[in-house]
Order: sequence, then C-alpha cells, then structure tokens
Amino acid sequence: MKIYLTPGPSENYFIVEEAIKEALQKKVTAISHRSKEFKIIFEHTVTQLKELLQIPDDFSIAFTGSANEIWERILQNCVEKESFHLVNGSFSRKFYRFSEQLNLSPSKYEVDFSKGFLVENIDVPSSAELIALIQNETSSGVQFPIENIAKIREQNKDKLIVVDAVSSLPYANLDFSQIDSLYFSVQKGFGVPAGLGVWVYNQKMIEKAQQLEAKGKSIGTYHSILELDKYAKENQTPETPNVLAIFVLGKVVEAMNKKGIAMIRRETDYKAELLYHTLEQSEFLSPLVNEKSQRSKTVIVANVEKGTSSDVLAFLEKRGIIIGKGYGSFKDSQIRIANFPTHSKELMEQVADLLMLYGK
Ligand SMILES: *Cc1c(COP(=O)(O)O)cnc(C)c1O
Repeated sequence: MKIYLTPGPSENYFIVEEAIKEALQKKVTAISHRSKEFKIIFEHTVTQLKELLQIPDDFSIAFTGSANEIWERILQNCVEKESFHLVNGSFSRKFYRFSEQLNLSPSKYEVDFSKGFLVENIDVPSSAELIALIQNETSSGVQFPIENIAKIREQNKDKLIVVDAVSSLPYANLDFSQIDSLYFSVQKGFGVPAGLGVWVYNQKMIEKAQQLEAKGKSIGTYHSILELDKYAKENQTPETPNVLAIFVLGKVVEAMNKKGIAMIRRETDYKAELLYHTLEQSEFLSPLVNEKSQRSKTVIVANVEKGTSSDVLAFLEKRGIIIGKGYGSFKDSQIRIANFPTHSKELMEQVADLLMLYGK
C-alpha cells in the first residue's frame, strides 16, 4: 500500500474511509439539500470547524467548489478596482493573475521564489481595497509568520485582509481579530477528498459586496458572497452541493477536535523539525528555504543535489512512500514533502531515515 506525502491531494485522514461508508449507509448522497438532514450535516461541519480553528462568532462559513473558486469570488465580491497581492510563488501569482483576468488593476509586492516578505518593505498603495496574503506558499514551502499579519493590519485599518492558508491549516493558528477572511480547500491539511472549498468571512466582506452591488457592479450569481451568506444562515447552500464532502469534512474535523488542536500543532512542529534537520544533515539534499522563520512547517521543500527529483521519488516509492516533485520549472531539481495531521510521527521518522540513505 502506498502512502501519500504529496502536498495536496495527500493521504486521506485516517477516518475518511469509515466516514464515507457511514455516509453511504445513511444515504447522505441521496438526501435533498433542502432537507432537515442536510441542515444538520451542514451545521455540524460548521460547528466543528469553528471549534477547531477557534473562529469567533462574528465570522461565517460558506462552502464552494475549491480555493480557486474563492479567489475568483473574493475579487468579484470585494474589489471594485484594485487588489494588492503578496507574491512569492505559483499559487500567490495565480491569485494576482485572476485579478488581471477579471479586468481589475491589481498591484503586488513580489519577492523571488524561495524567499519570504520583509514586513518593513510591504508598501500597500492607498488605493488598494483588499490585501491578499499568502500564509503558506505551497510551491516553494515559504511561510509568512502569523505575527506579521498584525503589523500589516496596523498600517491598513481601512482595507480588507484575506488570507490563503490552504496548505497550512489546521496547523496555522490565525488571529481572527487581524483579518477579514480566511479560506482553504480540504485535500491538503484536512486529508479529505478534493472538491470542496471553505470560505470564512466577516461582516466587512459582506458590506463591501453590498456596496459594489448597490453601485451596479456585477458580483456574480449563485455563489456571490451575499447569496452564499443568505443560505449559510439557514445551514444551506444556494446550489446542490457536494453533500458527501461536507459530511466527511465534518467527521474529520470532529476527530481532529477529539485529538485536540494543540496536540496536532505540537506533532506538526516535531515532524517538521525532524525533516529539516535531516535535510541539513544530508549530503545530497538541502532545505530550499534558508531563513528558518520562513520555513513552512507543513510543506517541506528541498533541493536535490545528486541526481534529479525523479531519483528521490523512485527511491522512496520502492518503500511505498510517495512525495511530490518541485513545482513548475523546479520539477526536476526539487522535492516537496507534505507534513499534514494525517502523517504520523512514526511515518515521518521512517521518511527521515530513508532520506538520509538517499544517494549512498
Ligand atoms: C492547493 C492550493 C490552492 C488551490 O486549491 P484548489 O483546491 O486546487 O483550488 C490555493 N492556494 C494554495 C496555497 C494552495 O496550496
């Protein structure tokens, strides 16, 4: 049996199989999305998420098809002319590109691949309405330290701040008083089959969409934030949703709550420490990100200094372990390893031991 340590999709959380079986037994995939049963499932998933991520009551949760979709919805609903983006890799660049494609006029602060942002250098134009932060850039394994978000908020009180934590949740411990929106998709740290995006937002996001709509701007149709919010208040979705995924996510988050978020975070720190230490000791592999405070705890990226990434992948695959190649143009020269809650300490110790043997 193969075990996936790819940075999304990744190995399913261990209760997923059981949760899918339960869903089929309970005919979750056959019920109407206007039924009482569905509302109970929706409410359960939202309640569990609010507990796990300590989401305050003034934030709401809506479900979409993916994080890509949330990028588009944020721009359609909360930006009239200008969004501002921190860009340091493929995912953050794609969000910036979406803004151009939607005929907005985005601005950005871009740093090289594998580098993080210097807070002192982040100069948000006064004309920007919304700041798009990338908390964990999955292509390069660079994290944006969460303490820095408060500094950005301090200097930009009038702007909306939205945070992409797709590949760092549930590990990332965000302070909701410093942000207006947070979003993720479920196939990374939650270990749920792909095809569901989770959008957490506050009233300021809603008000902005209302203002744009009042000005006559199109904010989209069934998945505008106003439409999503209207239905979310009734524990429903505008369209027929992926009920199975919402159910399974609820079960996974419930299991994570039983384990406890503090334990999940401690284990993630331990496993990340182990992998970075291994990469530093290895003769043939090295951590891509030099600055320790900027190293992602959940997506660990390394340069391959002997052979290519395919050699490392093949070496691990013989032992049933599947990791990711580098992203885009780095596909041959780098490897990426996910460190998500589903990946046990024992598994990571095994991966670390194998990586030390690579090339010998
Ligand atoms: C994977 C990922 C996305 C896109 O998620 P989809 O579910 O494919 O839409 C966005 N941002 C980051 C940082 C990601 O890692």
